[in-house]
This record gives sequence, structure tokens and C-alpha cells, in this order.
Amino acid sequence: MRHEGPGVSPKSLNLFKYILTSTAGIKPHCWRTIAYSCLILVALVLHPSKNIVHITAYRSHIKLPTEIVAGEIVNITLRTPLKSLQLGSKKMVKVLGLKKYWASVSLYSGSTVELTGEYFVKKPSFLESFFKHSRQKIFKHVILVKRPPLNSGNDLRIPANTWNKMNNKFTAQKLKQKKTMSNLLSKNNGHISNYCFSPPLLSKIVSKFSAPRNLPNGRSYYHTGVDMRASSGTAIRSMGVGHVVFASNMIVPGNIIVVNHGGGLYSRYMHLSRFNVKVSDYVQPGQIIGFSGATGRVEGPHLHWEVLWKSAHLNPHNFIKSLSHLCPQKNMARL
Ligand SMILES: [Zn+2]
Repeated sequence: MRHEGPGVSPKSLNLFKYILTSTAGIKPHCWRTIAYSCLILVALVLHPSKNIVHITAYRSHIKLPTEIVAGEIVNITLRTPLKSLQLGSKKMVKVLGLKKYWASVSLYSGSTVELTGEYFVKKPSFLESFFKHSRQKIFKHVILVKRPPLNSGNDLRIPANTWNKMNNKFTAQKLKQKKTMSNLLSKNNGHISNYCFSPPLLSKIVSKFSAPRNLPNGRSYYHTGVDMRASSGTAIRSMGVGHVVFASNMIVPGNIIVVNHGGGLYSRYMHLSRFNVKVSDYVQPGQIIGFSGATGRVEGPHLHWEVLWKSAHLNPHNFIKSLSHLCPQKNMARL
């Protein structure tokens, strides 16, 4: 009587016998070949076409700065465009049609800033993965931020009656205005359509950008724009093409105009005596937008001109100079 184990069919027993007898003659080197083939098969099935990837350094082709001055433009040209290039918390601006990126850091940032770049390639399909690898390339680079020490400032000589008006009243209103303004400046709509910028007037700089200043109440801050000599009534021109997004009176800036140039770039013109534009007007480079004056917290009549990018104050004249080669008209003029 034949004994059969429970659940084992005669068919499967025969198959087992067949495997045993047919593999008995296989030599050891053949076993190795079979084992390697199985491993290759497993590797192909588990190939990371679905999961990423390699992470490799990707910096050899870029000249990276080791230190930057707060408010100055950091300009980087890449051979291969990256998916993302970021300076601190802000994505660098890719200049339309070029492999150039720029950004700046705020006067009030930390002592270092990190430049990070990422480049993603399309993940290959299973078949493509025989020939190429899905890859994520990334670099991180720390840059030193330079700026004058804040406690080295000059004392501002604000006339007593102006200072009292600023300090004793309107504290709540000042805070409200500040909030409205920072909301306005946080909008990054559109992109910068051209880099043809010029100063709002040709005049002497009477107070430089980033100069530390001390107020009569002991508070210190950086001068976030430039003061330009201008007697009351001097024509003030838009530094570039854009939309007027604010033209009204504020306590500290006085009569102020804000122009949106796209891509998070804004210019502000303060202490004006009167306006020549209204909100939502589209202005051309050099168009007269208002007239200088002595409104707000001032020592006397002048123009305070600011350039901001994503809430970081830029050095206005240097900004225009460092990106002027991107203005097609200026390139034409050189030919
Ligand atoms: Zn100023």
C-alpha cells in the first residue's frame, strides 16, 4: 500500500522527483550562473524607477560667491538650468530666456545665508532605466553676509515738532499702515518684463543705503533706501515699467508712491509734495509720477527712494547698475 502525505497530490510529487533528478547532474559553476541570473532578475524588478534616487553634489560648474553684501545683487550664471535655485528662503529670479539667476539678502538677515540648488530629471520608465538613471542633483553652499554694524549709526536730527508728531500720536495707526504696506509688498504676481531701470532723478545722494541710524528714542535701524537731494516740487520719475499700487499719505513716509514692477520687485518714492499718478495706473520708465517734498518724518525736503525685492531692501543705484546689461535697449545702445 502506497503512503501519501496529507495534501500532497501525486502530480506535485512527480514534479518534485523530476526536479531532483533533472538538477542532480548540474555542475557547481552552472548553479552559480543560475544564482547570478536570479539576482539580476530581482535587481531589475526592484530598480528604483519608482523611488528616487541618487543625491550628488552639483556645484563644479558654478562659480559660487563666498561672501555677499546685504542689499547687493547676487548674480549666478549656470551652464545647465536648475529646477530651483534659492538664496536663503527666497527663490532666485531666473532671467527670461537666459541661464542667469539673481537674488539679494535683507539687511536684517542673519550673518550667513545658504544658497541651495536642485535639479530634477524626469524619472525613466522601466525600459529606459536599462540605459539611464533617475537622478536628483543638489548642492548647499553657505555664504557670509556683510553689512555695517547696527550700533555704528549716525544720530538723526529730526525737528522736535516733527518728532513729537511721529512719536506721541498715531502709534496704532502707524502699526496698521505698516501691516497694510507689508501685505502689499508680499505679492509676487507676474514676472519682471524688462530690466531697463533708471534713477527717479539725477541728483546727489545725501544719505547712503544701509547706513545705520539712531533715532532720538535710542532705536537704531538701517537706512533702507537712498536720500537724494531735491528741493520741493522737483519732478520724480518711475524707475521702470510697472503698475502704481499705492499713492497716498502715511505717517512716517509722508506722501508715498509704490510701483509694482512684477516678480516681487517694487520701488517706493517717499516724502512727496504731490502725486501725478493714481493707484492702478500703468507707468513707463522715466514717466513723472509725482513731485518731491518734505512730508512725513524728515529733516527737510528730499527724495527717499527704495527698491525692494520680496521684502528685502536692495541698494537702488547698484541694483540698476548690476542688472543693466539685461536691458535690451542698453545693449542696443552699446552696439
Ligand atoms: Zn531716507
